[in-house]
Amino acid sequence: MGDVVWDEKQCDACQVCVEACPEEAITVERAVESAKLSGKVEILEENCCTCTWCEINCPAEAITVEKIFEGDIEFNADKCCRVFHLC
Ligand code: SF4
Ligand code: SF4
Repeated sequence: MGDVVWDEKQCDACQVCVEACPEEAITVERAVESAKLSGKVEILEENCCTCTWCEINCPAEAITVEKIFEGDIEFNADKCCRVFHLC
């Protein structure tokens, strides 16, 4: 699997990545320090499927996901049911 890299200096412990992760691979411990939150993010590599949702959703650009596959996606409109919106 690819690597998920967390940048402690960028992170403000908002927990958005925890909500975004479909594999429950991320936990955030946080504490309030004056007006700013700080904390520690842990990523369970064995649970991570490198979907990049944490990277895409992180408002502080504190997570980088190194994917193991690259490629192009072709969309076939004739086969799309336009119901689930999961893609
Ligand atoms: S979404 Fe980004 S800023 Fe928020 S806790 Fe996760 S890594 Fe930190
Ligand atoms: S890449 Fe996906 S599965 Fe891995 S920690 Fe981020 S959101 Fe979770």
